[in-house]
Amino acid sequence: MICIAIANQKGGVGKTTTAINIATAIAATGWRTLLVDMDPQGNASTGLGIPSHDRDYSVYDMLMDEATAAQCAQATRIPKLDVIPATQDLSGAEVELVGESDRVDRLKHALANAEGYDVCFIDCPPSLGLLTLNALSAADSLLVPLQCEFFALEGLSQLLQTVERVQQGINPSLKIIGVTLTMFDRRNRLTDQVAEDVRECLGGLVFDTVIPRNVRLSEAPSHGLPALIYDHSCAGSRAYMSLARELLGRLPPERKAA
Ligand code: ADP
Ligand code: MG
Repeated sequence: MICIAIANQKGGVGKTTTAINIATAIAATGWRTLLVDMDPQGNASTGLGIPSHDRDYSVYDMLMDEATAAQCAQATRIPKLDVIPATQDLSGAEVELVGESDRVDRLKHALANAEGYDVCFIDCPPSLGLLTLNALSAADSLLVPLQCEFFALEGLSQLLQTVERVQQGINPSLKIIGVTLTMFDRRNRLTDQVAEDVRECLGGLVFDTVIPRNVRLSEAPSHGLPALIYDHSCAGSRAYMSLARELLGRLPPERKAA
């Protein structure tokens, strides 16, 4: 199983929207897909139609060794896409795990037992704390959504420093698979300028596909559906399908055969 973390310590940059829609697009190609919701806010779980009263076992139980990945995973309305939901108590996990020597590797160990999936996406919370470190420890690759706004690059350098530390310590094989520009607004000159700067700075790391600002993407979660199902032909959905194709193209060849 290839494992891709979706992280950026800034909130509201499109992590969850990207996680839900990329996972849906990849599942639609036939890959058995798991989405792990690592944000105590549980937006990915809600956006995939799992109401909070329906989260008997959550990623918190898995991190605490109280349930297995198989017990926590729930089917969604999307064929081939399961989710391990998050609940509010996940926000306590960072403190509860502080004395554990394997606190950074809890997710990795739990997912090692997750059978029957080709790919796993991890939707990270907006911080670089223990939950995100668990995701970066478990992941082969990191996908970074970057909102086209003035401070985008500033936040990125902090994330890249964290990635470097992770590569030097807990997970030497972690790779950045790409940076995706989100909430792009063609009519706004500033976002154009930011996109240009980001490409200049990061080069080929930035995906060609740009995710436009699109109201359908923000409406879909309130229906408990990925935008790709809610309105598969809107500009946002088409962009995520294109991003999924690019992402698949960047995976190592042995993984593509899955
Ligand atoms: P994060 O997980 O990084 O906090 P979200 O994916 O939850 O970010 O996005 C933040 C808000 O912006 C949500 O309300 C979401 O619906 C909305 N949103 C995300 N991407 C887009 C987009 N491309 N166009 C319009 N709204 C978006
Ligand atoms: Mg989120």
